[in-house]
Amino acid sequence: MSFQLFGLPVSRGIAIGRAVLVASSRLDVAHYYVAEDDVDAEVERLRTARNAVARELNAMKRDMPAEAPAELSALLDVHLMLLHDDTLTGAAKQWIRERHYNAEWALSAQLEVLARQFDEMEDEYLRERKADLEQVVERLIGVLTRGADGPSAVEHAIAPDSGEDPLVLVAADISPADMLQFKGGVFLGFVTDVGGKTSHTAIVARSMDIPAVVGAREASRLIRQDDWVVIDGDAGVVIVDPTQAAIEEYRAIKRKREAGRARLARLRHLPAVTRDGERVELQANIEQPGDVAAALAAGAVGIGLFRSEFLFMNRDGELPGEDEQYEAYRSVVQGMRGRPVTIRTVDIGADKEIERMSATELRHEHALNPALGRRAIRWSLSEPAMFRQQLRAMLRAAAHGRVRILLPMVSQLSEVRLTLEALARARQQLEDSGRAYGAVELGAMVEIPAAALVLPSFLRYFDFASIGTNDLIQYTLAIDRADETVAHLYNPWHPAVLQLVAQTIASAARLRKDVSICGEMAGDPAFTELLLGMGLRSFSMHPSQIPTIKERVLGTDAGRWAKSLPEIIAADDPEREVASIIAEIASPRGGPLVASATAI
Ligand code: PEP
Ligand code: MG
Repeated sequence: MSFQLFGLPVSRGIAIGRAVLVASSRLDVAHYYVAEDDVDAEVERLRTARNAVARELNAMKRDMPAEAPAELSALLDVHLMLLHDDTLTGAAKQWIRERHYNAEWALSAQLEVLARQFDEMEDEYLRERKADLEQVVERLIGVLTRGADGPSAVEHAIAPDSGEDPLVLVAADISPADMLQFKGGVFLGFVTDVGGKTSHTAIVARSMDIPAVVGAREASRLIRQDDWVVIDGDAGVVIVDPTQAAIEEYRAIKRKREAGRARLARLRHLPAVTRDGERVELQANIEQPGDVAAALAAGAVGIGLFRSEFLFMNRDGELPGEDEQYEAYRSVVQGMRGRPVTIRTVDIGADKEIERMSATELRHEHALNPALGRRAIRWSLSEPAMFRQQLRAMLRAAAHGRVRILLPMVSQLSEVRLTLEALARARQQLEDSGRAYGAVELGAMVEIPAAALVLPSFLRYFDFASIGTNDLIQYTLAIDRADETVAHLYNPWHPAVLQLVAQTIASAARLRKDVSICGEMAGDPAFTELLLGMGLRSFSMHPSQIPTIKERVLGTDAGRWAKSLPEIIAADDPEREVASIIAEIASPRGGPLVASATAI
């Protein structure tokens, strides 16, 4: 029966596909299709793994010390029974034969199906056997993974046009690091139970340019493995088991949207200039060196934000060394062919974890207020050797082109001074070892209200500022950006937020320092006119948003919006104020209103 779920629209577009349900702990299982000719071999791989696990379990039973409790032996019998049960390995074979899933994927798909059945059992003893089932599957996947020295989950992933049914991912939660694993993979869209609009998971989804809905509460419980699902990333709606008529309707919307995107792509070579002749820079936000291609394809005039922390994720606890970082930064700098590249020092913490975190760090991350803790520049300054290593890698990359170093979450002058010392020391170390390096510009993220309020004193030390609206909203309104339960209060239109943004742009202009916005507000067309009216001339966003924002810039009279600015930011409801100005511009004599107002 068809039903709908509602969540937060975080990445635009329509995806139609079969649901793949995964629990976060199993997200790094490889998901790929096996070719028709290889199906028998894959079934054999599963059978071999099952036999290997059976041998393991039997050996454990045999070698069990005489004094071991009898329950242990009984438990191993339960595991052996589950291992040979047709509802597990037999059904997994079906997934391989019918859907062409690889063995690991087939097992995790079947585990989700069985886990639900266990959850619904009345008998407590039987319900608890779910944990045993999970252990057996983990053992099987462990044997399969150890046996395979092939490519990683991501490299395995086959493009969705391989003739198989398209797939969408459904999970209770997905970390930004897990999300990254799916870049360029099989999934056409995703749905999660939790998360906010500017959580880093949502940001990675936008950078992948796939439709996504987060905060859909019960989605991972109500959607079943293999259900057909429509994800409407514009409206934040998920339709489960849609009727044929609904699928046709969504296919038509999808085609229309794709035609609109093709039209916008033609703007790529046009410079972004407002109707009254103001030149605007549209730059790209990236997470990985491989994203440079998308930035260039979208016509980005530079990288306004390279979130370097993504280089630190999915690494089994080992951080990238100086040379590895240097190679990554150099490849971006060279790839951008002379255009400026803004690399942000690592912004670890809050919803971006790395495996290297100790148990104490993780306790702090989970139990306390992680967004107010040792995050971003605070983390870097508390790890001086790691910080200097990163700074050296950036300075070396600057020998190949224009590099701007950006510091996240600066709030105190003491942090600025310590950073300048670290930078001077890193430079000296390169000098002493005779390695080549280049000049860099230094910038501060303005994402804490304190930084916005004392910007003039900060700017004595910086060449530029970049406004991180995602965190600025979070810290101004005291709303966790990743918490769907307060997402309705995360309001970029709040007058306090707009006043801080306007004040930052004005302070930088007065001091003749460059200022840009690299938070999600820069890529949201609802804000383009207003930001131009505030005097902003540099925007940085996901490459996929650049054409939409360029179209807005081309149609805007920045001077007209500058005149209305005081009344907009003083209004109780700035969003409504902007909508009424757009309506007035579109219909100066009170005639019918045009569609532009609907984008607000
Ligand atoms: C921001 O806070 O707006 C920003 C760009 O940084 P991040 O989203 O990575 O925290
Ligand atoms: Mg931030």
